[in-house]
Amino acid sequence: MGEKAKVVRAGAKTRLRRELRFVRTRARELKMIGKALASTKHPILVHIIPMRRCNLACGYCNEYDDFSKPVPLEEMKKRLDILADMGTSIITISGGEPLMHPDLDEIIRHIRRRGMIAGMITNGFWLDVKWIERLNEAGLEHLQISIDNVTPDEVSMKSLKTLDSLKSSKLELLAKHAVFQVNINSVLGSGVKNPEDALTIAHRAVELGFTSTVGIIHDHNGQLKPLGPRELEIFEEIMTLGKRSFSRFNDFQHNVARAKEHTWRCRSGSRYLYICEDGLVHWCSQQRGYPGIPLAQYTPEMRHREYSTEKFCGPKCTVSCVQQVGILDNWRDPQTLKPKPMAPASPLVQIGSRGDN
Ligand code: SF4
Ligand code: SF4
Repeated sequence: MGEKAKVVRAGAKTRLRRELRFVRTRARELKMIGKALASTKHPILVHIIPMRRCNLACGYCNEYDDFSKPVPLEEMKKRLDILADMGTSIITISGGEPLMHPDLDEIIRHIRRRGMIAGMITNGFWLDVKWIERLNEAGLEHLQISIDNVTPDEVSMKSLKTLDSLKSSKLELLAKHAVFQVNINSVLGSGVKNPEDALTIAHRAVELGFTSTVGIIHDHNGQLKPLGPRELEIFEEIMTLGKRSFSRFNDFQHNVARAKEHTWRCRSGSRYLYICEDGLVHWCSQQRGYPGIPLAQYTPEMRHREYSTEKFCGPKCTVSCVQQVGILDNWRDPQTLKPKPMAPASPLVQIGSRGDN
């Protein structure tokens, strides 16, 4: 880690496989954009949770527990089939910690079999060569790890020191063996002790050949809070490092950094779906409970209604992945409907904290 960290390169065969997968994924992403512009009837991105349990317990997170069982593979396949039949373009597996699911590679294989782009978000702690090979073989296309700090503290263990240690670096294993694209997300904002950490993390990511993005932590109510002057400088620098990431084309993140409210049309519940481990559809990780309907009963009419529903949380939203999806529709179809009353409260309904997304 730091100045002593090694720069590792994959062997020629892995580099070739990586290039091929990259070119194919880019072609599929371009097709996804064309399809999204041509029709508003299908979901573009779905986050799905096969495992609520996590091996860590980050102080800010409300998206994990320490006991739940994996969603059975057959049930995951059924949910993925429904999403594929809706015409979904991208599935991102999230958690909890997806690597705790024993059939994670089979889930990814099923996503690819059904023609969807496969991504996942992990804390990376369980990665080893065997897991990376399983993910390669299954056809994974994107993997994201969020790293919170350089040295672990009482709030988060997701640090460069734990993931990129000299003895066993998970990041170096990825640089050497992964044929999928790896993005390292660092964070800035309230509660981050040392903003320079984000820069150290981003530079290490780029040094290893990964893309790099930066997330901004919102306060406990999911509200915007402006970054300080040095944090802003760091933010802009990392945004320019994120060469191959769509997020640098996104004004939204720049607004979040300056705590400016933004005007956009959140299409969650329609173009973006969050499917929890119980198979319920939610607007997003921060608005669980809306609409809280089982995926199998989620009709095209319901999706269409959500497409036209103005989200009360839109102007102060900090959920960047949904905003990136929104770019494809912001220019059309004003939202004129109001949200329906909430479904009966589920134990998952919690608003305003931050997980890995
Ligand atoms: S932020 Fe991620 S790694 Fe941390 S507890 Fe939540 S799900 Fe687990
Ligand atoms: S928090 Fe953001 S992404 Fe979630 S429903 Fe509200 S506006 Fe949409």
